Amino acid sequence: MPLELYNTLSRKKEVFSPLHPPYVGMYVCGPTVYSDPHLGHARAAITFDVLFRYLKYLGYQVRYVRNITDVGHLEGDADEGEDKILKKARLEQVEPIEIAQRYTALYHKAMDALGVLRPSIEPTATGHIPQQIEMIRQILERGYAYEVNGSVYLDVECYRRDFPYGILSGRNVEELLAGSRELEGQSEKRHPWDFALWKRAEPTHLMQWDSPWGRGYPGWHIECSAMSINYLGVPFDIHGGGLDLVFPHHEAEIAQAHACFGKEAAFQARFWIHNNLVTIEGQKMSKSLGNFITVEQVFTGKHPKLSRGYPPMALRFLILQAHYRSTLDFSEEALLGAFRGYLRLMTAYQRLMEVRPYTYSSFSVEAWRERVFAALNDDLNTAAAIALFFEQTEEIIRLRRQEIYLTAEDLALYQLTWKEVLIDILGLSPPQSIEWEKWASLIGLLIQIRRDARQAKNYALADLIRDKMTSLGIKFLDFPDETLWEMYE
Ligand SMILES: [Zn+2]
Repeated sequence: MPLELYNTLSRKKEVFSPLHPPYVGMYVCGPTVYSDPHLGHARAAITFDVLFRYLKYLGYQVRYVRNITDVGHLEGDADEGEDKILKKARLEQVEPIEIAQRYTALYHKAMDALGVLRPSIEPTATGHIPQQIEMIRQILERGYAYEVNGSVYLDVECYRRDFPYGILSGRNVEELLAGSRELEGQSEKRHPWDFALWKRAEPTHLMQWDSPWGRGYPGWHIECSAMSINYLGVPFDIHGGGLDLVFPHHEAEIAQAHACFGKEAAFQARFWIHNNLVTIEGQKMSKSLGNFITVEQVFTGKHPKLSRGYPPMALRFLILQAHYRSTLDFSEEALLGAFRGYLRLMTAYQRLMEVRPYTYSSFSVEAWRERVFAALNDDLNTAAAIALFFEQTEEIIRLRRQEIYLTAEDLALYQLTWKEVLIDILGLSPPQSIEWEKWASLIGLLIQIRRDARQAKNYALADLIRDKMTSLGIKFLDFPDETLWEMYE
């Protein structure tokens, strides 16, 4: 079964095949660097990290471009409000570039900890002003934009005569107009649904560049069209981002690509892929609701909703345990469950390496492996793939105890599948070795003390140890000759 991915553009799963094999071009909208990376950033980065890793595993040569937005992202969707980075710089009385660089560094630090591979290219909007100006110039030349008072807007009414607008989000412009807060005549735009490609800057504006239309700065949407097409050509294979970017950001990108390159642009990308959002205990995550959780807060536990810190792999595992198109509800309970689930799989993985081969096999590794890859090929269903590994943890104990068997060849394939999927594709790294070994040997010591206590008929002590371990999420598995342990969720 080939890899199928859900395409937001067609609203169905489609078989993935690159436009120019073996190359794959993938562009994902990166962060606007004005605040600490939060759970939403982590989910988007991890979703596309797994896709990046899986495409490479399948043998493709992937060029993965993920941008840094360091200019032009205004507070409001309708070209109003202050630039987010400028606002932060004003509040802190520092240069905008200090804000951008500080939060880019924090973003990298958090994503590195989460095991997210760096993209092949990480372009910044301020580093690609000429490419953006050139694209705007061509859109004007083709008549799909107009200039007014040194600003340039995409003329949606004019664009609609030749191309469908709203095709990605499934919205129509009449609906958009109804939802618009702008009043006719209060804006220099011809229609409220037009959007800015270039904005005129006041002399005091901190970030501004020369352009054919005077001093100004680019709109937010144009950077992603210009940078993706600059590095990947048009159309390219995959454009990704969070579900909240479908409208207006990605809809605007498609319009810009068509307006600049005509029908040849073919919706800018062949596949449009969107990860769903993170909710906090059932509520939308937002600064105003006070339930905003940063990645760093998960690591340190310094948040009212958390009683302790969690290692990065616990968060990564929590994110992978949901399918990327489902909402992911974050709570400490879910995070703790994910942490224990991750440790349970890693314990099983470690135990698997101690299994010795036999002369025959009790079960088909091939059939199980096929189910695992069928799950990944089914629109990257990491949740289903992980469930198939959980199913195997008891089998590994039985293998280890030689109650069931695998031949050397099957055992090698079985071990390889664990490594390839959990470590290489899902990007989980085994627990930090020194801490893990200390921990494992402490548990071993407790098991020994408990066995001695039972032999001495000190059942109170034996039960105390068992109950304490249970409360820590560790289950003892008693066999006549030994006691094994594992984590449970
Ligand atoms: Zn973007």
